[in-house]
Amino acid sequence: MRGRFAPSPSGRMHLGNVFSALLAWLSARSQDGEFLLRLEDLDERCQNPGASARLCEDLQWLGLTWDGDPMVQTSRTGVYEKALEVIGKRAQLYPCFCSRADLHAASAPHASDGTPIYAGTCRGLTTEEVMERSRNRKPALRVAVPYETVSFDDIHCGHVEQNLARECGDFVLRRSDGVFAYQLVVVVDDAALGIDEVVRGDDLLSSTPRQIWLQKLLGLPTPAYAHHPLLLAADGRRLSKREHDCDMGWIREHADSPEAVIGQLAAWAGLIMKPEPVAAEELVEEFNWSRVRKDPVILTAIPWT
Ligand code: GLU
Repeated sequence: MRGRFAPSPSGRMHLGNVFSALLAWLSARSQDGEFLLRLEDLDERCQNPGASARLCEDLQWLGLTWDGDPMVQTSRTGVYEKALEVIGKRAQLYPCFCSRADLHAASAPHASDGTPIYAGTCRGLTTEEVMERSRNRKPALRVAVPYETVSFDDIHCGHVEQNLARECGDFVLRRSDGVFAYQLVVVVDDAALGIDEVVRGDDLLSSTPRQIWLQKLLGLPTPAYAHHPLLLAADGRRLSKREHDCDMGWIREHADSPEAVIGQLAAWAGLIMKPEPVAAEELVEEFNWSRVRKDPVILTAIPWT
């Protein structure tokens, strides 16, 4: 059995990222599984020098060990290019010239995660129209989705169903700046690493049906999924790396030990009663998804202040 943690090294990890890493690590280790690390570093605009090294060092400090060398996505663009070619043979890919403002037009219906469902504006462009528009603007590449319902049973959230055309819409596989989209690379890389179980925040629950659909198009296996509740700031916002909301730099200055941090996270998750110091290793034997809470954790007070 093989699990993974796939953070974007765009800054120092915050408590929410570490919460995710802990649950993914516990789930894999409690099944005697391997645990792999993948640094999702494709988006150069978000990269931050030294962030990958710090991320690895922070995980080590917490006792969340991984097997082998981390996978790095920037070295794999040829592989993504090939996957895109295969998808192009089995589904319709088309250039999309819509601007952010076009996509967020007030009338657009929205998916459950708040992103607008693409109206299909560029799906029917003629070759001449594509050539004409390409003069002024670099297009993104979208894949046309069928009117098809994808369903799966999440280990933590239960049965999930999504109609791709109605609830997701045609989605981007390569951005207009040439960067391969997360939805594509996550599918290619989880398969390349032989991942059997994906553990991640439930903000990505609505992405999973389209990822499963891509797996089928590419002839790749579908791993098991466990989406966990998020840690939210007191006002209900998501924690963000940009705002240094309790990031690992701050935490390591204020918390007494890695065990103090793990104990707090485990208590939030519902794995232990009180936030007492505990090593991650000590939680492995008792770990079970049925013990993990289902509702978000609201950080009304940050510990260690
Ligand atoms: N890099 C993505 C993130 O940090 C990974 C999501 C996933 O685990 O699939 O949100």
